[in-house]
Amino acid sequence: MKDRLGRDVTYLRLSVTELCNLRCRYCMPEAGVCRKRHADMMTQEELLTAVRAAASLGIRKVRITGGEPLVKRSLLPICRGVAATPGIEEVCLTTNGTLLPPLAAELRAAGVRRVNLSLDTLEAEKYAWITRRGVLSDALAGLEAALRAGFDQVKVNAVLIGGFNENEIENLANLTKDAPLDVRFIELMPMESGTLWGPAAFCSGDLVLERLPQLRPEPAGSGVARLYRLPGARGRVGLIRPVSSHFCAACSRIRLTADGRLKPCLHTPAEYPIRGLGEAGMARRMAAAILDKPPCHGVLSAGSVSAAGRSMNEIGG
Ligand code: SAM
Ligand code: SF4
Repeated sequence: MKDRLGRDVTYLRLSVTELCNLRCRYCMPEAGVCRKRHADMMTQEELLTAVRAAASLGIRKVRITGGEPLVKRSLLPICRGVAATPGIEEVCLTTNGTLLPPLAAELRAAGVRRVNLSLDTLEAEKYAWITRRGVLSDALAGLEAALRAGFDQVKVNAVLIGGFNENEIENLANLTKDAPLDVRFIELMPMESGTLWGPAAFCSGDLVLERLPQLRPEPAGSGVARLYRLPGARGRVGLIRPVSSHFCAACSRIRLTADGRLKPCLHTPAEYPIRGLGEAGMARRMAAAILDKPPCHGVLSAGSVSAAGRSMNEIGG
């Protein structure tokens, strides 16, 4: 379905939980989220009804996210159900990877085609610091498992943070040299839970191009990243620049939170509750949300705070 500006909305980011085994400093408060009542969260059945409703409006791609989707007990049946929904052509997953090794093959068999794995540093102490509790070797084991499981594509997402990992741009990009994976650098978005960062933490995607002048542009893909390649590398390097060069004009996404609220834009407070509506009612509410998709997420800068009104783990980043 097209929104009022003619943007074709074909991509649903489906958050299956707000909970996470990590506490990344830019995403989640240290104490975690206030655990909502189980009864307030979307059930497996409701999630799949919502996906059917979305598919009836022209959604073709679903990315399962969270919180950390791998902490969700019913993740495999959810993935199977989404993949089997008529009209859904692609099921992808975003994960921190730490729980992936025993699950990767089953997720592939359940119909997940692509995996994005979040990894901001290759140094164990820094990984423990940024995630507040994670172990780097667990994430690296997850990455290996993803590569072994035969997904169509594996991407590593690294949030660029000044004073933290800008000295690792080259090392992270070098992951693309020998392995068939893309590394994407994402500009830090000023979410509420990340307000402690201050402007110095923001690094523009330009920094990657300055540090890696040998990068050569690649043809545009279907996603929001600008793509490049290191000479002779198997994979590509991507830049995702929601702050310095936002991609609102080409935005094709809507998001569904784990408590059943449709967000037409990540950075606006508007939310459309869909719980209890049934498939036809959900589709009507989703259509209203798509029509209400704002032209642009407004000012998002190192000195501002997103108007999202929730932390990233609650929205499904
Ligand atoms: N737990 C999974 C993970 O970490 O990949 C999925 C959910 S997480 C919210 C999805 C993505 O959002 C991750 O790649 C994470 O790095 C990114 N993210 C979270 N907070 C962010 C922020 N303030 N700015 C930019 N990216 C952010
Ligand atoms: Fe958890 Fe992902 Fe947020 Fe990190 S970025 S706290 S892994 S939801």
